[in-house]
Amino acid sequence: MAFFDTHCHLDFVQFADRLKQHLSDWRRLGIERYVVPAVDRDSWVSLQALAADHEVCSIALGLHPCFLSRHADEDDLQALDALLVSRLAFEESGIVAVGEIGLDYRLDEAARQCALFEAQLSVAAQHNLPVIVHSVRAHADVYRLIKRSGVSSGVIHAFAGSYEQAAQFVSLGFKIGVGSTICFERAVKTRKAIAKLPLAALVLETDSPDMALPNQKKGSGSPADLRHIFAVLCAMRAESAAEIELALYANSKQVFQRKINSEIKATRV
Ligand SMILES: [Zn+2]
Repeated sequence: MAFFDTHCHLDFVQFADRLKQHLSDWRRLGIERYVVPAVDRDSWVSLQALAADHEVCSIALGLHPCFLSRHADEDDLQALDALLVSRLAFEESGIVAVGEIGLDYRLDEAARQCALFEAQLSVAAQHNLPVIVHSVRAHADVYRLIKRSGVSSGVIHAFAGSYEQAAQFVSLGFKIGVGSTICFERAVKTRKAIAKLPLAALVLETDSPDMALPNQKKGSGSPADLRHIFAVLCAMRAESAAEIELALYANSKQVFQRKINSEIKATRV
């Protein structure tokens, strides 16, 4: 079995201390690859160290909309661009996306959120990178801003919403991140959407430690939960488990397998 957790915060204290042991435990459950997204500029340093230490972990760098108070917008955006210019050519940097970025309309400062999101979409477009998008109660604006940016690859992470909303994102070339939301019976609309979307549009994620399974405390999630999310997904779909497993792994690789520009590579020698 081979699984890809496309969104987990392995740099958080819950995991950081014993990460090597955790990764080997999760490997036994078939979880082979991870993408760890950033929340703020400070985390970019630790994420790069994490990627250097653990080959199975790729990283995304960006400014999360839920941590606005930590961002120095112009400065941080320039630093993000400079970091990508200096590190992206090196495959071992582990950088595969810009993230986690987006809009969360449970929170204030919508205009500032939009400006930050748009600027980071433009950084991603410039560097030809996919994006990892946080979209909460903001699907219409997220769709509009992605469409305008020209970014044509990424994941709408921890998607919750209708089939029509998901299908719009898929029409832009995006994948839909399937997480623990589908394990909650009350998430009727989201479960219907995930059951109906083409298999080619789906990737798995835990968003651990933040999101948890129905029987767990919030904040106690782990990549090990991926197996349960997968089982729930299989019960909702017509395809065989083997087919779903293969497709989801391939979809994840398709988004995050960065093609290193051969010219850039040549100039490194
Ligand atoms: Zn996250």
